[in-house]
Amino acid sequence: MNFPQPQHGRRAAGRPRYRRTAPATPITRAVPDAPQETVAPARPAGRRRAAAALRPVMTIGAMTFAGGMLLSTSVPALAVTATDTVARASVYAPAEDTISLRSQTLEVGSEVALEPIEVGGFDVEAAPPPIESSVAGVGEVSLLQADRVVWPVDPSRTASGFGPRIAPCAGCSTFHDGIDFNPGVGATIGSIADGVVITATEAGGGLGVYVEVQHNIDGAVVTSLYAHMQYGSLAVAPGQRVTAGQPLGAVGTTGQSTGPHLHLEMYGADGVRFDGMAWLSSHVNG
Ligand SMILES: [Zn+2]
Repeated sequence: MNFPQPQHGRRAAGRPRYRRTAPATPITRAVPDAPQETVAPARPAGRRRAAAALRPVMTIGAMTFAGGMLLSTSVPALAVTATDTVARASVYAPAEDTISLRSQTLEVGSEVALEPIEVGGFDVEAAPPPIESSVAGVGEVSLLQADRVVWPVDPSRTASGFGPRIAPCAGCSTFHDGIDFNPGVGATIGSIADGVVITATEAGGGLGVYVEVQHNIDGAVVTSLYAHMQYGSLAVAPGQRVTAGQPLGAVGTTGQSTGPHLHLEMYGADGVRFDGMAWLSSHVNG
């Protein structure tokens, strides 16, 4: 029996559907243009020119950035503020500052290295060993070196120098073992230098009211003696430490004296008197 086939559409051809769509043997076709397909698709000429121009710009930008980094390590950060790398450069600014500080520290270090020389010289000058002296009636005395020597009174008026002389009074020595100053009665007598009072008495016999002060002068013991002071004018006591110029008493005429004056004697560790005028003339420094 024959059944009528549908008579519509392409199937009207009466051929089975699969025979139209089923693939035949795969067609292997040579593709001579294959290598050309790896080339980037063609772009408009205008875009190619823009890209070509962009490449140098980016290179310059990278170089500028690299240059900015170099600059940031060798110049202050403010020097690159005009470039577009300022933000990145500022990141390195602290490191640049640190480098700058290191060089300053080196400079300070070289200056500090010079100081020990000065300090050493100062120490040698400022800390001489004291002289330990044993004084009758006072005890052990530590004498610090005196660096300042002054006149005991105004030296412009002197009455008598050191050495042989005609005795000024009955019983006075023909050898003047001191020097006499005539600043006027009541004038204040000052210590010639820092030292320790070893005598301060109103019972000085021919010396009257007098004071003795022991000093350390350039590492040697030197004693100064101030005689004929006024009664009641003693300003110091034995064992007292005094400074240069510190008041000891007032000019008078106690003891074996012909008139108000300061009789100053000076002697060293051996007790031998020497010319105080010559000594003071070469030692007074203030
Ligand atoms: Zn005298």
